[in-house]
Amino acid sequence: MSHACKLATGNWKMNGLRADLDEARALAAGFPDAKCGILLCPPATLVCAMADALSGSAVMVGGQDCHAQTTGAHTGDISAQMLADAGARQVILGHSERRADHAETSAQVAAKAAAAHAAGLVAIICIGETESQRDAGQTLDVVLSQLAQSLPDEATSANTVIAYEPVWAIGTGRTPTLEQITEVHDALRANLPDQAISLLYGGSVKPGNAAEIFAIANVDGALVGGASLKAVDFGAIIAAL
Ligand code: PGA
Repeated sequence: MSHACKLATGNWKMNGLRADLDEARALAAGFPDAKCGILLCPPATLVCAMADALSGSAVMVGGQDCHAQTTGAHTGDISAQMLADAGARQVILGHSERRADHAETSAQVAAKAAAAHAAGLVAIICIGETESQRDAGQTLDVVLSQLAQSLPDEATSANTVIAYEPVWAIGTGRTPTLEQITEVHDALRANLPDQAISLLYGGSVKPGNAAEIFAIANVDGALVGGASLKAVDFGAIIAAL
């Protein structure tokens, strides 16, 4: 059994307007004394308002990406320092949608993670294989190489979380078998620079499958997309952790 901290992270992706802060408030109301870490990562436009809305609650707020530099001529980007200033405590980095849509490399993810650490943020670093890589039997090679290349040297359990998200399981309603998740998480744990780093599973986690996934020894929580948008769904997932 892992000794890492339990964490349930909600990734709202490009969803959420001010009115949806009611979902965040409802979630916080349901977990006044959370026994695990609870985190919501709204779009950047809502980080400040959500941090204010959840101030004093057990639910933390995070960003979905940051730039590797602190300031400068990078139109449209935001820095880790800006996220921290807005009230974020964590930032998701290297999500497969950013690796695919913005051609982010693992080296860039490591640079962003170093920037996050310098700003006092916990970096939630995402890795995962595509369906064709799994079909070709390359899953462990892919995730272990992403792990090695996406973590900055100073990564510890105090500043880093890893999320294993098979690309083909994200938003599809398909999940790996429990044996497949176990295989990857065991391999990741064996290759972590700090054994207490939390290992999240992500990809179509729902209220109906959360408990069996959380029962896997090296799964310390979840990174949840679609099912994190509604407090009732995300709350049911958190209750299973
Ligand atoms: P999903 O997304 O839960 O909607 O599959 C997970 C993620 O991309 O983090």
